[in-house]
Amino acid sequence: MAKNVLIIGAGGVAQVTAHKVAQNAAEFGALHIASRTQSKADEIIASIRDKGHQAEFTSHALDAMDSKAVAGLIAAHDIAIVINVGSPFVNMTVLDACIETGAAYMDTAIHEDPSKICETPPWYANYEWKKREACENAGVTAILGVGFDPGVVNAYARLAEDEYFDKIDSIDIVDINAGSHGRYFATNFDPEINFREFTGTVYSWQGGEWKQNRMFEVGREWDLPVVGKRTAYLSGHDEIHSLSARYPDSDVRFWMGFGDHYINVFTVLNSLGLLSEQPVTTAEGLEVVPLKLVKAVLPDPASLAPDYQGKTCIGDLVKGTKDGKPGEVFIYNTADHKDAYNEVGSQGISYTAGVPPVAAAILIARGEWDVKKMVNVEDLPARPFLELLGKLGLPTRVIDATGDHPL
Ligand code: NDP
Repeated sequence: MAKNVLIIGAGGVAQVTAHKVAQNAAEFGALHIASRTQSKADEIIASIRDKGHQAEFTSHALDAMDSKAVAGLIAAHDIAIVINVGSPFVNMTVLDACIETGAAYMDTAIHEDPSKICETPPWYANYEWKKREACENAGVTAILGVGFDPGVVNAYARLAEDEYFDKIDSIDIVDINAGSHGRYFATNFDPEINFREFTGTVYSWQGGEWKQNRMFEVGREWDLPVVGKRTAYLSGHDEIHSLSARYPDSDVRFWMGFGDHYINVFTVLNSLGLLSEQPVTTAEGLEVVPLKLVKAVLPDPASLAPDYQGKTCIGDLVKGTKDGKPGEVFIYNTADHKDAYNEVGSQGISYTAGVPPVAAAILIARGEWDVKKMVNVEDLPARPFLELLGKLGLPTRVIDATGDHPL
């Protein structure tokens, strides 16, 4: 029987996810989208109609921090698959609702507690992994972090494991956005979440242990397909916290590209304390969280889409040995901001994050990835996912000993 789908959230990523679900409506049953601000979900539905899709979505107002309300919505509409692309603050309440009702769960970012930044590694162990047993007991499929990074890059690591190496020495994930949005300063996704990634300790997994650095302390120039030579900095990121568990003997690092202008603005905001998640009280007695104020004055990431130009390149450089012989492979995707806008009305970062959960949802609906337990993406066979992603608009390429070729 066709499975009903519920998308939670109505931001930049949800817009892409909803369009892709609509394009692939034949894979699913009834389609629902719920968010805090229902009018935003309705705008997404209207944009899907504007593109001429026949698929009908039903919108709902939902506070996803209220687990009972989420479970009620799931039960009322017989939802089998929940795609959580709301804020990462809602992960655990949505996951609990899925465990209660038996619906499959997926998200694209690790859970965060609004009052804490950069918790003890591995981050998944602080929240999601505590529910592994509950998922298994309830027979609930939960696929964690199935955006692009985390998500597709985890599948790239698994592909390297399956098809290239019998021992992996290092996984370097590199994320370069060579696009330009034309604004003085903006973040590509929720500013609050974006800054939270960079204000804490930079954790990487090296030599079998957690290493700690400061943001922008370690930079390295990369020469990548399409985007060329770019400097990327060692950064903390979700996927290190699951890949290090599967590949404990490998170094796992994440490199994010930044221009000097971003670094300057970030440094000023951070040094002034404007990126703090801790409330301050003004002379007038008003309590304000500086980070939330900065978010309120910055452009909405979704609003960048019409003017965004240029390309992204995100991939994994994996080094290892096969039959004792050392080698390396770079597995990657490039995406174009304008192409994303023309297809679904979004910028490229939302596009790369919003398409993968739809591929995962299709694989769950078909039964291929309906594993009835909690997993990270690298725990699942990579090929079916990556091949489907190619059909959905995110093709994989590989640079190996034979050259640069499609997967
Ligand atoms: P946005 O801020 O644009 O959208 C978040 C949406 O969640 C908004 O519609 C917001 O509602 C909604 N929301 C927030 N709180 C609640 C709540 N309590 N109940 C219901 N809805 C709520 O973010 P993005 O679309 O850019 O990002 C979505 C997710 O994707 C984030 O978790 C982000 O970290 C992740 N991401 C993952 C990437 C990857 O490659 N893995 C890359 C980019 C993002 P409202 O409109 O009312 O504020």
